Parts: sequence; structure tokens; C-alpha cells
Amino acid sequence: MQRDGHNAQTGFVPTMGALHAGHLSLLRRAQEDDQLTIVSIFVNPAQFNDPADLARYPRTLDSDLDMLYADGCDVVFAPGTEEIYPVGETQEAIPLNGLDERMEGIFRPGHFTGVARVVRRLLDLVKPQRLYMGQKDFQQFAIVHSMIHALGYPVSLIMCPTVREPDGLAMSSRNLFLEGEMRTRAPEIYRTLLYAAGSYTRGSREEMERQCLQKLTEAGLQPEYFEIVDGETLQPASAESQYVVACCAVRAGDVRLIDNVIVRGNTQGT
Ligand code: AMP
Repeated sequence: MQRDGHNAQTGFVPTMGALHAGHLSLLRRAQEDDQLTIVSIFVNPAQFNDPADLARYPRTLDSDLDMLYADGCDVVFAPGTEEIYPVGETQEAIPLNGLDERMEGIFRPGHFTGVARVVRRLLDLVKPQRLYMGQKDFQQFAIVHSMIHALGYPVSLIMCPTVREPDGLAMSSRNLFLEGEMRTRAPEIYRTLLYAAGSYTRGSREEMERQCLQKLTEAGLQPEYFEIVDGETLQPASAESQYVVACCAVRAGDVRLIDNVIVRGNTQGT
């Protein structure tokens, strides 16, 4: 694509819409780095393992477009399903190097296969030089990072820090569904992650995970997992791990929330 007679450097932010300040922070970062910014809005059916979750995922295209327009996004790409998944197209397997076999991959079987498919398709269509994704979805970031390398895509992947509500709750399109009591309990997720980050020492992983699961349960939440992992391999952090991330998924009533903090190593985000 061209702008001002030069080959424009294109920055791309894929989203599923229901935009909030977290998404807009990715756009802002792209605007700082790139001449042309593209945001996609596509609720990707392939990454939902639960049809009920897909059916109730918030769809707010008009207000999303208003927000992107107000924030100076150059191009919005809101494709239909047939554009992303043409009928009759064969689906090549995408190597995920086992990174999809832990945490979210266990609780949401097939989720990352769907994520990898849509990101690959979007990269083929948009052909950006830079791709911006949030630390909020840490495992997704790691898997896309690995896929880009495995398939040799000429794109730089940039991790943007998690944007939070004033009480620490990570912004998420799903927060719209948090009602009353659950909304007041949900900030305990970030407090627990900070506790783990502050108290973790080499050798304390299992004890720390146990304590954090207990804290979340005592706060009236239902944790699915709380894991302190090596940020490169997503395997349980070992004494040798230089890059350590605490990750969790929690049910607050019927709303499923994920969050993480970087305990050690890469300090791009918190
Ligand atoms: P989604 O629309 O949930 O698929 O998210 C689109 C992109 O926005 C992904 O790269 C997410 O990691 C990122 N994102 C979602 N929530 C946040 C947040 N609170 N802060 C920063 N990035 C986020």
C-alpha cells in the first residue's frame, strides 16, 4: 500500500470487536510506529470451543467503528466468515510446537488451532510489516510468535502491555457480562497475580500455585488453573527459567476471565 508516494509501513491489529481501551492502546502503538494502521474486526467461530460462548460474544460494530474513526485508524477490515474461510478450501495443519497443549489449550480444546488459522489468513490478506497483540492473551501471543517463525512470515510481532481498570481488572470484552458481586470479586485476580510475582522464588513454584488457587477460591472465584510458567516454552517454570510468567483462568460466575503478569525477564508489560 502506498501513502505520500512511499511504500507505507503497515501496522495491523487483529480484534474480535467489542472494543475497549486495551484494543485502542494497540492501535495507538501502531500509530506511533507505522504509517498505515489497519484494525480487523472478526468474531472468529473457529476459536470458540463452546457454541454458547460464540453466540453471546458481544457484537458492537457501529460503536467499534465510531471509536476507531475517532482514534484515527486508517483502515478497518470487517470481513464476513466466507471471506476468511472460503467454502471448500482445504485446511493445512499449522505447527504449534506443543504450546497449545497447556493452560488454555487444556480448558479450551481446539481454541488455538482456530486462533492460528485466523491469524494466518489475516496475515495473508493484510500483509502487514508489524503485528500488534496484547500481553493479556499471553499464550496466544506465544503461539502466534512461534507460528510466524515456523512459517517464515516477514512480520514483526509486538507485545503491548495489558490495560487495566483502575481496580486492576484486565480490560476484556467479557467484562460487560460481570454483574454486581462478581465485578467486585474479579480484581482479586490481578491482586493474586501480583502476590505470586512478588513472592515467587526459584523452587517455590508449586507452593505458590497452590496458595494462589486457594486465594482465588476464598475470594469467591472459581479458578481453572494458576500456573507459573517459562515464558518461552510455557512449561512449568524451572530454576533455569529466565523469563517467568504467572498465568491464570478464572470463572467469575458464568464469565471466564484470563490474566497474567510477567514475574521475571521480559518486562515489556505488566
Ligand atoms: P480480542 O478482541 O479479545 O481478540 O483481542 C484483540 C487483541 O487485543 C489481542 O491481541 C488481545 O491480546 C488484545 N487485548 C485484549 N484485551 C487487552 C487489554 N486489556 N490490554 C491490552 N491488550 C488487550
